[in-house]
Amino acid sequence: MRLSHFDYHAPETVAQAIALMQAKPGARLMAGGTDLLIKMRHAGLKLQDVISVKSIKGLNTITVDENKGLSIGATALLADVALHPDILKYYPTVAQAARGTANAQVRNMGTVIGNLCNASPAADNAPTLLAMNAEVEIHGPGGQRRMPLEQFFKGPGITALQPAEIVTAVHAPKLAPHTGTAYISLSARGQLDCTAVGVAAMIVLKGKACEEVRIFISSCGPTPVRALKTEAIARGKELTEAVIEQAGNQAAGEVKPIADVRASAGYREKMVAVLTRRVLSQAYTRASE
Ligand SMILES: Cc1cc2nc3c(=O)[nH]c(=O)nc-3n(C[C@H](O)[C@H](O)[C@H](O)COP(=O)(O)OP(=O)(O)OC[C@H]3O[C@@H](n4cnc5c(N)ncnc54)[C@H](O)[C@@H]3O)c2cc1C
Repeated sequence: MRLSHFDYHAPETVAQAIALMQAKPGARLMAGGTDLLIKMRHAGLKLQDVISVKSIKGLNTITVDENKGLSIGATALLADVALHPDILKYYPTVAQAARGTANAQVRNMGTVIGNLCNASPAADNAPTLLAMNAEVEIHGPGGQRRMPLEQFFKGPGITALQPAEIVTAVHAPKLAPHTGTAYISLSARGQLDCTAVGVAAMIVLKGKACEEVRIFISSCGPTPVRALKTEAIARGKELTEAVIEQAGNQAAGEVKPIADVRASAGYREKMVAVLTRRVLSQAYTRASE
């Protein structure tokens, strides 16, 4: 199917991008276009104006700061995040999620921010950043603000962005000592395939007990699901096999997945239990190291 005609805009500053969005109601931002152009070409999305963020200077920055933590700019490529030495060292699960997204060609066009703003419940880069309590930085006509990523997703393809707003970066805080993270996703083909079930966890240990636990499940609801009751089971406890077993069972009860081309609802529920056990175990081991 051919793309229908649209006007392509390439602002060089965030202010220009915001002004263009105000001047062209209905316009959509584009980073790598690996989601947007597919929707325009194959899913009937017709746009009069597309505003590329790729020419905006400084948005491709990735920083890992000893105090401020991790920042990934809006045009930083999935490939650059996957291979960034400091991300591999200090935020290995973020690198893993980026590396597990699509294939090399797509990772060299697509961005982490595009993955988040696309707001697919299956997005591979969301659960880990949610587990780490990341925030998105948003610029718009009303100025600049930060929003917890947890408040950002409103439904499939729907975010909390207001008209003419742009996400300029995602920030993950500096991780406390004795923090462990893990992310496991399943899909039919394993790679180049939308995630059928994904679970991410972050654990902060105090001694042998979990002082903090955050668990997010993807592809099992209209947005990534936070497994609050499962977190409560693990919080304050040493993660023995019995606790991990109980947590897995609870997690399966916290989702109401649908059946679709990727998996049946029953399979998803069962896999939520299995993956939750595995990510808790992995995160706990990493936090203990
Ligand atoms: C073959 C193939 C395989 C794929 N495999 C996977 C996979 O395994 N896992 C996975 O999660 N995804 C996968 N995807 C989806 C896609 O590649 C990712 O979601 C990618 O990260 C999107 O980034 P992008 O920069 O291309 O986004 P774009 O397509 O440019 O944008 C996506 C959406 O975000 C909005 N947007 C972009 N940037 C901003 C911004 N700065 N502020 C506000 N809104 C913005 C756009 O308007 C659009 O709605 C795959 C895609 C393809 C084509």
